[in-house]
Amino acid sequence: MRLTVVGAGVVGTMHAWQAVQRGHQVVQIEREAEARGASLRNFGQIWVSGRAGGEELETALRARELWEEIGGRVPKLGFRANGSLTPVRGDLELAVAEAAVARPDAAARGYKLLTPGEARTVNPALRGEFDAALYCERDAAVEPRTAQLALREELLKSPHYTFLPGREVRDVVGAASVRDDHGDVHEADAVVLCTGAWLGGLVRELAGPDLPVRRVRLQMMQTAPLGEPLTTSVADTDSFRYYPAYASPALDALNAGRPQARTAAEHKMQLLMVQRADGGLTIGDTHEYEHPFAFDTVEDPYDHLTGVVEFFLGRPLPKIRRRWAGVYAQCTDKSRVVHRQQVSDGVWLVTGPGGRGMTCSPAIAETTANELGW
Ligand SMILES: Cc1cc2nc3c(=O)[nH]c(=O)nc-3n(C[C@H](O)[C@H](O)[C@H](O)COP(=O)(O)OP(=O)(O)OC[C@H]3O[C@@H](n4cnc5c(N)ncnc54)[C@H](O)[C@@H]3O)c2cc1C
Repeated sequence: MRLTVVGAGVVGTMHAWQAVQRGHQVVQIEREAEARGASLRNFGQIWVSGRAGGEELETALRARELWEEIGGRVPKLGFRANGSLTPVRGDLELAVAEAAVARPDAAARGYKLLTPGEARTVNPALRGEFDAALYCERDAAVEPRTAQLALREELLKSPHYTFLPGREVRDVVGAASVRDDHGDVHEADAVVLCTGAWLGGLVRELAGPDLPVRRVRLQMMQTAPLGEPLTTSVADTDSFRYYPAYASPALDALNAGRPQARTAAEHKMQLLMVQRADGGLTIGDTHEYEHPFAFDTVEDPYDHLTGVVEFFLGRPLPKIRRRWAGVYAQCTDKSRVVHRQQVSDGVWLVTGPGGRGMTCSPAIAETTANELGW
């Protein structure tokens, strides 16, 4: 089979990966010299902990397995099974963590409630004050800024794979045939559009104005090296308010009894933090849903996150070296893992995995391949 994959973010690259593994011919087309969208701007969290039970959790767990397998073949992905800790303070937060470990699927997520001493054995950098910590052993991480490059390097070893950067796909010109902005037509047996959060132009023309997918903008930052290992990813209890796995009467009580801090509520924030291969910390995030998005990054969220992190680490944060924003596409029905739609003869659109796209992409691509009978 000949496949054209449009877009070289993680979703496109995992589709190319699946197709090449299955012995198909793949041409992957990217309008930039290299992808520069959400797939490079994210935390690199392979995040199982907060997923909704059912399809979302199953997809994340399958994807986590695939990441580990691919990470074994491509060490430059930087896959590590680092797990995550969410320190909790006070009875209201503790009750949410207790409800999480009582879930029927808690073992599949590797949830454990740890004492502060146990948490510091797992992650000695957490020297701040907290009463307990929710451990999720199944969480993992990769290096997002280099992951696509590492995957491509491996794909290029196959004679079945061709990468065409610097070309924007503009039209569908026949069954499974697309034309790029160089005027070249690419004929195949199937086309998969993995065009991320670019929902206008070609995608709007093909899928129509009612695509059930929206855009979300996030702010992030990265510090200089911490000078010591941060052995797990770290989240704060605002992540309880954000991720569906924590929905419970205990969470309702937390929201009622201790609302989010003003800045965190205003910018729809949670703390997520992961250490990069160079020792720096990637820290975020905010969520902006209303268009038009701001074109600048604002400081208040960074001040808030710095305060939360310094509290957990019990030390000052290293200098912030980079700040950036990114946009992802999210299904408007957040319970859907991804929007997969046939938009033309032989052409499928796969977008909208939201804030779990890095996590779920290998399993999303596997499902596409299975459903389309590749
Ligand atoms: C700040 C931030 C943090 C996040 N953190 C996490 C996380 O820790 N864990 C997690 O699981 N998820 C995370 N996500 C979500 C995740 O990054 C995205 O869901 C995922 O990267 C989407 O991948 P994609 O390939 O669909 O899109 P993209 O990475 O945006 O790639 C789409 C590509 O398609 C190309 N393209 C578009 N149109 C055309 C065209 N017509 N012709 C040719 N090329 C085209 C674009 O140039 C782009 O390179 C985060 C997202 C952001 C923004």
